[in-house]
Amino acid sequence: MPPRSATTPRLLIRSSSIHAAGCYTLDPIPRGRRVLEYGGARISKDLADERYADRPVTYLFGFGDKGDVIDGFGTAMFLNHSCAPNCQTEESGGRVYIRAIRDIAANEELVYEYNLYDSDEDNADCYCGAPQCRGTMFSEEEVKRQARRKARKLARASL
Ligand SMILES: [Zn+2]
Repeated sequence: MPPRSATTPRLLIRSSSIHAAGCYTLDPIPRGRRVLEYGGARISKDLADERYADRPVTYLFGFGDKGDVIDGFGTAMFLNHSCAPNCQTEESGGRVYIRAIRDIAANEELVYEYNLYDSDEDNADCYCGAPQCRGTMFSEEEVKRQARRKARKLARASL
């Protein structure tokens, strides 16, 4: 039998102080280990917009360069955002995986940076509680883009 750390870690979904429910590991995970796949149907961005127009909560994951999204279904959709992540996502062969970016102890919550983008909402406040919390789940590029858009709006309003 290989040691437990060499196999797939056992994961548990339970309530989280960050947001509703979170995904915890019951086993230590070494840095660099691929933990799980972000599973779900592949749909177009247009279909996603249509399907979730009226829903406040979605588990959509943009990937690839054609603007497709994964309509999250499975364990990975329970991973919360944190500004101090212990995991990151990676694309490989049209699939998206969650990988540990540092050694993770048993009973830690698995988190990664959502780097949200392309949102009509101004509000993606972060409550991760990390000392370096950026206060938002948007990517830094998206924060800059929104600031530029706001500045343009203000400039127009003052004409
Ligand atoms: Zn944060």
